[in-house]
Amino acid sequence: MSFDVSKHLGGATSRAKSDVANKLVGMFLHEVSRKITAKIGMGVRDARYVQSVTESFGAECLYCGKGLELDRAAVEHLDGMNRFRAGLHIPGNVALSCVRCNREKRRDDQAILLHLAPSGWESFLSHDGTRCQPKCMNCSYWMTIWANETERIDRLSARRQRILNFRQGHSEGIRLNEILRSGLISHLDEVYRDCQAFATESIRRRTEETLAILEAEPSCFPAMLKGGQGTPPASKSSPV
Ligand SMILES: [Zn+2]
Ligand SMILES: [Zn+2]
Repeated sequence: MSFDVSKHLGGATSRAKSDVANKLVGMFLHEVSRKITAKIGMGVRDARYVQSVTESFGAECLYCGKGLELDRAAVEHLDGMNRFRAGLHIPGNVALSCVRCNREKRRDDQAILLHLAPSGWESFLSHDGTRCQPKCMNCSYWMTIWANETERIDRLSARRQRILNFRQGHSEGIRLNEILRSGLISHLDEVYRDCQAFATESIRRRTEETLAILEAEPSCFPAMLKGGQGTPPASKSSPV
């Protein structure tokens, strides 16, 4: 299969702006999380919480159950820390996954509407290959992990139950996150849009200011700054 260089190069600019907005969304959620963990008296780095995660999942990915490796482990938020799911960095919502599951789950985390389950993590574990369109990418992912359908359904169901049990042990933080969710999503939408608008306007203004330096020095790029007068002639081999 050929690699599409043009597509990958072209994606950089639009991604950069949404990356900044998403970063701000994450910072806001982390700030709310700090207040919540202070209220419930337990953070995700507390020894008691680490022990709880270890007892529930061991040193395994909480989704696929594969052993975690030092360079292949990710801090995983069951309810994604984004503007769609508004998950917090609080006990009950944080565990460890393999980087592959962390990446594959983003399709559910970033879906505006979920069809299989009420939350992103439950939806991710519901792609057992029996309820989606034939080309569903998450169903395809789980088929690569467990090819046999009966085994796949059983394993995914068992992982879902294990996570539910884990979360029941941290119900206070989970309940607060539920209460705040719809309000948070509305604020996160505002933060995201404000950041994009700020970035667009700020960059536009400073780009003009930066290029004005060249305008004052026409010798730099005379052809480019004078309306393209110096555009090279079309190649003779080009069709007219
Ligand atoms: Zn995994
Ligand atoms: Zn699916």
